[in-house]
Amino acid sequence: MAQTTCDVVVIGGGVAGLSTAMQLARRNAKVVVVERGPLGNGSTGRAAGLLGQLRGNAEHTRMLIDGVGIVNELEARSGLEIFVRTGSLRVAETPERAAEIRDLVQMGKSIDFDIDHLPIDEVQQRLPYMRTDDLVDACYCPTDGHLQPAELVSAYVKVGRELGVTYKTNERVCEILTAGDRVQGVRTSTGDEYHAPVVVNAGGPWSYLNAELIDTVLPTAAIGHYYLTTRPIPEVLVPKDSPAIRDRHLRIYSRPEAGGLIVGCYEAEPDLHEMAKLPRDFDMSTMKPARDSLHVAILLDAASQRFPWISPKTPMTLTVGIMTFTPDGRPFCGELPNLRGMYHCAGFSGHGIVQSPAIGVIMAELILEGKTRYDIESIEADRYYEMDGYQQRDEIEQRCLTMAGNYYGKVERPAGTSAS
Ligand SMILES: Cc1cc2nc3c(=O)[nH]c(=O)nc-3n(C[C@H](O)[C@H](O)[C@H](O)COP(=O)(O)OP(=O)(O)OC[C@H]3O[C@@H](n4cnc5c(N)ncnc54)[C@H](O)[C@@H]3O)c2cc1C
Repeated sequence: MAQTTCDVVVIGGGVAGLSTAMQLARRNAKVVVVERGPLGNGSTGRAAGLLGQLRGNAEHTRMLIDGVGIVNELEARSGLEIFVRTGSLRVAETPERAAEIRDLVQMGKSIDFDIDHLPIDEVQQRLPYMRTDDLVDACYCPTDGHLQPAELVSAYVKVGRELGVTYKTNERVCEILTAGDRVQGVRTSTGDEYHAPVVVNAGGPWSYLNAELIDTVLPTAAIGHYYLTTRPIPEVLVPKDSPAIRDRHLRIYSRPEAGGLIVGCYEAEPDLHEMAKLPRDFDMSTMKPARDSLHVAILLDAASQRFPWISPKTPMTLTVGIMTFTPDGRPFCGELPNLRGMYHCAGFSGHGIVQSPAIGVIMAELILEGKTRYDIESIEADRYYEMDGYQQRDEIEQRCLTMAGNYYGKVERPAGTSAS
């Protein structure tokens, strides 16, 4: 039974924990990351990686724009290609969605963000493999694209290691050590202890179970998400620099992938996973979607409406994974009043990959300086603390399912909820 002392223990080696660890180490903190499996094997390993910078409010947009700068630095330092800049399009086929696009373009321009309407005939020229005859408007952002999740993980770890971060893998945190109202560290499945005045719960879908170790309610829920990846087919060329698409009316997004196309769907009635009921050694990378499931049927139907050449017979792989939703689709970042030194960093819903670069900065600043350069009111961890209606698992799950079901379905207005 070894005992290690450090400044911060991070529970979870997904993008949230890895980015936080790297940013802490950049500020000279001694950090240990404890991960129950291999690094980057949770939600992070399943992500499509779409990066859309424009959000429903200016502050979230600023965080994502800054995040691209951090990724550029990471690429230079690690030598890895993480960001693939393809540009992105939002398309509208109804007046409500056209109004949504109009508002977003206006908001983007008000903060000097590079975005504009794109005439439908130009959309057709850029994406000859996409149906456009039913579109009434579209907007284009040339600086969007996607992050390659595996490369992002490798870069966080490579740079983190250079800065002195220690990574303990295949070791599960099963106890959070406390003394009075202060956290003291963690005990893991190997019996080892890591002592520190600060512990970060970056446990992704398991984050609410980690919070339960200290009798704390963290209102997150684990929700399934599906996407398909077509194999390259000679009749349909998908150039690798084709823009990503968001079609919120059909609830789908897409981006190019190795000559084929990724298409994912935010369904109206997603499935819930009870993490406590999964085996202790549950490995998300072993999840396989049943081809005859309703989720896959919904995905294929939506995908074929925008890309009519996609059918159940199209050569493709199907991916399913688990996202961590919150009742308002925004993460929980920071301490709760019940235990000093215990920080939460979870609930990234559908866009934890793109948020992770700036979230690492926010967490490191909060932990080491007690404040951050960003306005984080909307992502503070205590916004539902002890609030009626957000304490029982069944009500939390219902609220998170509603949020996930509305993720693309709801018409977005500036300052409202945003989705990637
Ligand atoms: C199918 C799919 C597609 C997605 N597409 C996109 C996208 O296009 N763009 C985007 O930005 N985001 C996307 N996401 C969301 C994104 O993957 C997540 O928001 C992000 O990966 C969350 O990172 P995380 O570090 O919070 O969680 P995770 O990656 O799940 O990491 C948490 C880690 O904590 C570990 N852990 C938990 N509890 C313990 C414990 N007690 N002890 C030790 N280790 C523990 C877990 O093993 C896990 O590795 C997608 C997600 C899915 C499932």
